[in-house]
Order: sequence, then C-alpha cells, then structure tokens
Amino acid sequence: MPPAFRSELNSLRTYVPPKSWRMAAEGKADDYAKLTSNELAFGPLPEAEAALSEVLPRANRSPDSHVSRLREVIAGANAGAETRNVLVGNGSSEVLLNALQLLPAGGEIVYPWPSFSLYLTLDVVRDLAAALPHHVLLILDEAYVEFVDDPAYGDSHTLALETENVVVARTFSKAHGLAGLRCGYGIAPARIADYAERVRFPVSVNLAAQVAATASMMAEEKVRARAEFVVGERARLQEAFGRAGLDNIPSQGNFVMVGFEAAEFEKSGILVREGGALGYPGWSRVTVGNSEENDRVVEAVSSGGGRGA
Ligand SMILES: *Cc1c(COP(=O)(O)O)cnc(C)c1O
Repeated sequence: MPPAFRSELNSLRTYVPPKSWRMAAEGKADDYAKLTSNELAFGPLPEAEAALSEVLPRANRSPDSHVSRLREVIAGANAGAETRNVLVGNGSSEVLLNALQLLPAGGEIVYPWPSFSLYLTLDVVRDLAAALPHHVLLILDEAYVEFVDDPAYGDSHTLALETENVVVARTFSKAHGLAGLRCGYGIAPARIADYAERVRFPVSVNLAAQVAATASMMAEEKVRARAEFVVGERARLQEAFGRAGLDNIPSQGNFVMVGFEAAEFEKSGILVREGGALGYPGWSRVTVGNSEENDRVVEAVSSGGGRGA
C-alpha cells in the first residue's frame, strides 16, 4: 500500500506554465516578443546587479532568516510603517499564503474573478474594510501598485496601518524587474506580521533576493521612472487598440486586455496570454513591453494581424 495522501489533493493538477515559458525552456521563444506574464521588459537595476555580484562570494553562508535590512528599507519607503508592520516572502505568493495560513481551518475565501476588471478606489476599499466583521481578513493584492496613475488609489498601505484586519501584498516581480529571484512583501498590522512570521519558512527569502530587493527599493526613483515609461507605453497601446476599433479594458497595471486573438498576435511574432484562461475567450492580455515590442503590437493590430499578410 502506498502512503495515503490528503483526499482534497486528488482534484488538483500541477501548475501549467504559460506557453512562452515552455517555449523559452525549449529555446523556441527567441524570435518572439514575450508579452505573456506581466514581467518587466528590463533586467534588474544596475544597483541590484551590483549588490548581487557583491554577495555572490558569500553564497556559502545562510541568508539572514529575519530579512532585517530589507524590512527596514521597505518600512522606510512606506510612510508610517515600522519594520514590525512588514511581512516578507518568496514572492508575494508566499506573503499571500502565509496570511491565509493564519486563519482557522474550514473558513471561506472570497475573491473577485477576473480580479483585474474590478476597480476599487481607495475610498471604496476603506468603506469595504470598515463594513467587514472584525474576524474577516481583507487581503489586497497590489502586485501592480507601481503602475497606478489614478490618484484615487494612492497610499493604500495606510489602510493596513489603520485597521486590524487588512494586509497589503506587494512584489519585486513586476516594476522592480526581479521576477526570477522571488521576493515579495506585505504591509500589515503588527499582530498579523508577527503571526505570519510564525508560519513562514525561516529562510524562504534567499540571499540573492534579499540584497537585490534591498538595492532596488533604495533606488526607488529609478523604479518610478521605469514605471512611468510603462504607464506611457500603456496609453500608447490603448490608443492603438482604440484606433483599430478593438475593445479594450482601461488598465492600471502593466498589461492591457484587448479583444484580439492570441493566435493573431502569434502570427506577428508576439506571445500574449490567451484571454480564455482569464474568462475572456477571443481576447488577449498583452503585457506592456519595451519600445520595439510595443511597436510590434501596434503594427499587428493596425494591419489587422498576420505578419506579411
Ligand atoms: C505577478 C503577480 C503577483 C506576484 O507574484 P510573486 O509571487 O510576487 O511573483 C501577485 N499577484 C498578482 C495578481 C500578480 O499578477
């Protein structure tokens, strides 16, 4: 008899990576613009790269399990936050997981789907938080916060500092361009951060992730400049979609949902996320890329799709 496993695992399947990851692994994606996963088109900032080179010779040592330096820098970048308000994790995925691990078994999780079509201003979220029973944990996934240009959304982390049941989760995987290193953080009331640290695997944030994220956070101005570039290019894509008569959803992230088939983009040498997987069959989610990649997108929709067609 093999070991018995938890029966609720039987219905789960292993994660199916986006097509562009599989193609990249097989060396087949080189000629394509990879606009699938909402990664930044640029590599880590030079500051992050320098920090990585500097610590490599010390990779024989275990990382700081408390992630102290990064927590300080994160607290410093979020007015009103102290290090005791900061959660860290192997990507914001682990921050979200740790927050969920605090809740008693048998509860319910409620989440919007597709989450990107829900636009809540900070005032609406504040009202929602105030209306919730105190035993309900409100988790705000702010993976795209750096790309928000609508002032109605500003300073959301203050909500986590004003209340007892709000966690804001953020990541170094998007605007900071560090998706490959796996580092995320959260801002939360001190009690939640304390409990989250009890369930976190002590060395989940590795040495490379810690130093690169710290250096990148300290170069906040440069991250902001890159985010501004993305916001400008996002507007350019949305205008092009509009001119081509394509439906699209106004975005505050580094991606745009557009009513244009992924297969058509692929003919133009562009890989995007198929809308079907997100509840929008026939649509595509296009990550804002670098200038040349975005040119290619504009050209694809302007010519009605199909390279050489
Ligand atoms: C990219 C993304 C994240 C970030 O995940 P990491 O684990 O930090 O890489 C979180 N939430 C959403 C909605 C995202 O799109």
